[in-house]
Amino acid sequence: MLVTGGAGFIGSHLCDYLLNIGHDVICLDNLFSGSKDNVRHLLGNPYFEFSRHDIIQPFFAEIDQIYHLASPASPVHYQHNPIKTIKTNVMGTINMLGLARRVKARIVLASTSEVYGNPRMHPQTESYWGNVNPIGLRSCYEEGKRVSETLMMDYHRQNHVDIKIIRIFNTYGPRMAINDGRVISNFVVQALNGEDLTVYGDGTQTRSFCYISDLIEGIVRMAEADDFIGPVNLGNPAEITIVELADKIIALTKSRSHIVFEPLPSDDPEQRCPDITIAKKVLKWEPTVSLEAGLKKTIQYFGQRLRGKNGRARS
Ligand code: NAD
Ligand code: UDP
Repeated sequence: MLVTGGAGFIGSHLCDYLLNIGHDVICLDNLFSGSKDNVRHLLGNPYFEFSRHDIIQPFFAEIDQIYHLASPASPVHYQHNPIKTIKTNVMGTINMLGLARRVKARIVLASTSEVYGNPRMHPQTESYWGNVNPIGLRSCYEEGKRVSETLMMDYHRQNHVDIKIIRIFNTYGPRMAINDGRVISNFVVQALNGEDLTVYGDGTQTRSFCYISDLIEGIVRMAEADDFIGPVNLGNPAEITIVELADKIIALTKSRSHIVFEPLPSDDPEQRCPDITIAKKVLKWEPTVSLEAGLKKTIQYFGQRLRGKNGRARS
């Protein structure tokens, strides 16, 4: 198995899962937003190989399956070098599809709910084509992922590559980077440090948060399903406003922090919630971890990180 982006948040949990069920894993990562800390516990495992590699360059290996996750995912990271984000999603995906075609491997793409942009349909079904600004600050990622999906479909139709497309909705949990910039890691770190929680806009925008173990289970079920290429939404349909999320994290951390309101970034989607009817029916999958239970585990992880108990902090 090849996991691109395997030293990132989701990729490292996927490496753990695949090794646990008996696979050999090659983890490919340029460590742009990932960290060796996320896979350090695997480095002595004879069935695990880490390769520091940028997927913009071709990669050759004899493998039977590719989980293609390499791409910055947090707005802060993907907007840091937007041209590089597009190259990763376009050239990187072409390289991985070329590899899949050569070695006849199945390839699973980690796409995103961001392909729906600022959705006009709610909740979002896979048949919705989205509402994406092609020239905005988020488009390097949103359009990059849309092109990744197009490439997957064209390699499938033209070259019969065995593909799978997963649209991941906001996912959280241990191993998110402290400086990741996404809302749950920001709020938890701020609350634990006794700093103000930075709500962007008026906080009425919504998201639906999926705990990492639920997502990994869904990804692997999709990868192993036959006769279904997707796209499939994977996410937790429990929707919450950002200000409610801030209140919940303050309560769970018993923090004295307050909420401050900061400007809303441009093109920030107003609402997002997955329709997971297809995942339920075809994959027999649905999330089982409540937001409260997932947040407790995430808070515990960041607490350890901030106290320096679990490896070096990366902020
Ligand atoms: P992450 O930033 O923790 O992981 C991404 C990994 O890809 C990092 O380890 C990074 O170093 C690596 N990477 C980036 N560019 C690369 C390149 N050119 N070559 C090699 N490696 C490269 O983010 P994540 O949350 O784990 O996201 C993983 C995947 O899931 C991404 O494709 C992302 O778009 C998708 N996704 C995540 C979420 C979420 O909520 N976490 C939601 C939707 C989609
Ligand atoms: N957000 C926020 N404060 C933060 C970080 C994010 O209010 O410190 C908001 C952000 O504007 C968005 C939501 O939280 O409305 C989710 O942001 P995130 O970056 O986690 O993911 P995405 O916007 O890609 O869904």
